[in-house]
Amino acid sequence: MTPPGRVHIIGAGVAGLAAAVALSGERRPISLYEASQHAGGRCRSFFDSELGCRIDNGNHLLLAGNSAALAYIERIGALDTFERPAEAAVPFVDLATGERWELRPNRGALPWWLFDSGRRVPGTRPRDYLEALRLSRAPATATVAAVLDPKSLLFRRLWEPLAVAALNTGAEVGSARLFWRILVETLGRGGAACRALVPHEGLSESLIDPALALLRRQGAEIRFGARLRGIEFADGRAVELLFESSQVPLGASDSLILAVPASVAARLVPGLTVPDEHAPIVNAHYRYVAPAEAPLFAGLVGGTAEWVFKKREVVSVTVSAADRLLDEPAESLAGRLWRDVAAAYRIASVPVPPARIVKERRATFRATPEQVKRRPGTATPWNNLHLAGDYVDTDLPATIEGAIRSGFAAAGRASRDHNPSTAVIPVTMRRTDIPETTEDRERALP
Ligand SMILES: Cc1cc2nc3c(=O)[nH]c(=O)nc-3n(C[C@H](O)[C@H](O)[C@H](O)COP(=O)(O)OP(=O)(O)OC[C@H]3O[C@@H](n4cnc5c(N)ncnc54)[C@H](O)[C@@H]3O)c2cc1C
Repeated sequence: MTPPGRVHIIGAGVAGLAAAVALSGERRPISLYEASQHAGGRCRSFFDSELGCRIDNGNHLLLAGNSAALAYIERIGALDTFERPAEAAVPFVDLATGERWELRPNRGALPWWLFDSGRRVPGTRPRDYLEALRLSRAPATATVAAVLDPKSLLFRRLWEPLAVAALNTGAEVGSARLFWRILVETLGRGGAACRALVPHEGLSESLIDPALALLRRQGAEIRFGARLRGIEFADGRAVELLFESSQVPLGASDSLILAVPASVAARLVPGLTVPDEHAPIVNAHYRYVAPAEAPLFAGLVGGTAEWVFKKREVVSVTVSAADRLLDEPAESLAGRLWRDVAAAYRIASVPVPPARIVKERRATFRATPEQVKRRPGTATPWNNLHLAGDYVDTDLPATIEGAIRSGFAAAGRASRDHNPSTAVIPVTMRRTDIPETTEDRERALP
């Protein structure tokens, strides 16, 4: 019997980790190569010397309906590292009018919450929500704002904030189809699927470190500081990995999973078409202990800040599709975003607490219909090479859930390379079903 081939996984972001975790129960040895000195890519925590505490590179919202993410979290044994509210209740503040409300979808899929004015957006009627069904019939070229009425109150207070957050792309240019997929997997499944999963500590402690620990326990080889520079191909297969100072030949039954950002994949794989426009996310982290009664997170409309998250010793603000903020100096942004937080929390807007502004210029690909068309599938013309990453076509925008699904799908294919008749990893696993991330951290107020 030939020994099982090794699976080589390039990139230790959540997509690469998901592929490795999915394969870790198999007999095949795994090697994971990461260019930087840490895992997690665009989804990780680090110690910020300015604030004197650990922060996440950006706030990441995960929901109970993210089935692949949940399967991954269970597999790495990290469910207890998350705060898991029993109910889906998202507080919103309209900073322009001062109105406050809570979006509270009922648990089940039958949306009776729409008939309870205390659970829906104030000023809207149940039938207004039916408009969302039009998204299901939208052509691939349609944008969110072309399908839903951009002048309606519901658009301003719900559809637009959800679309911008999920797509990291303005509603006027964002893909209607991708937004529909998000609605189907969240509100469409009922409140139970919309409950937030918020890490007690940070992204690394919940999603990255436990995965590395599992992989190490299972004997996987993990190499940091290993940047892949090229791949040799021959006879329809990838046959050698070219790193900066070493080469790794691939055996006849070895598989290769490329889980690097889109632009890096396009440099490594000849002829690969990938999304080539990116959208920024700006996060402001303040060293500030939020009032005890403040919610875990809240949506803000009518200001600059879009979402505010309460952490143990930090309050963090997210602005998606933040092109308009990229050139604004950190100090001015810190003050501007803090005014929105102060209004939402009903606290003083001065002095501004110590702040760190993180501008992720290439946070995700821009989810326009044109860019969506450029997403490749998992398979490549080389029969042992499979793609993973949030840019791979999963029918979801660039999210943790999408990245994990892509990792599972690539693992499923690698599993079939080895033994086509007994592939063991289904695309979403079982269950009920930073190129070098451009981080531009700017010094904010002392
Ligand atoms: C600020 C911010 C906020 C976000 N908010 C949310 C959110 O609320 N909810 C959500 O679901 N998603 C969110 N996302 C998106 C989510 O973080 C990404 O979709 C996901 O982390 C992408 O994972 P990935 O593994 O595909 O790519 P990456 O995380 O980019 O991982 C790729 C890895 O490959 C490594 N690499 C690159 N080149 C090489 C090479 N040549 N050789 C070896 N290794 C290499 C990189 O160093 C990196 O570690 C957010 C992203 C950002 C930046």
